[in-house]
Amino acid sequence: MPIYEFRCTQCGDFEATHPMSTTPKNQLCPVCGGDARKLFSAANLSTLNSSRARAIDRTARTAETPDVVNAP
Ligand SMILES: [Zn+2]
Repeated sequence: MPIYEFRCTQCGDFEATHPMSTTPKNQLCPVCGGDARKLFSAANLSTLNSSRARAIDRTARTAETPDVVNAP
């Protein structure tokens, strides 16, 4: 299920998962119970810039020049 980001005016941002078919525009804040608006974000793209991107880089690098193993 995709993760959506919501912003509560009182408590700040939080994430919630919803099925594609029922994408809500608003969600109740889990902290205060108030209305929280859905944010338009590229959450999956932004996470790619950090640890996941480094892991992909490392995998590509070791595929071309694998680490030398000196001992069994
Ligand atoms: Zn709240």
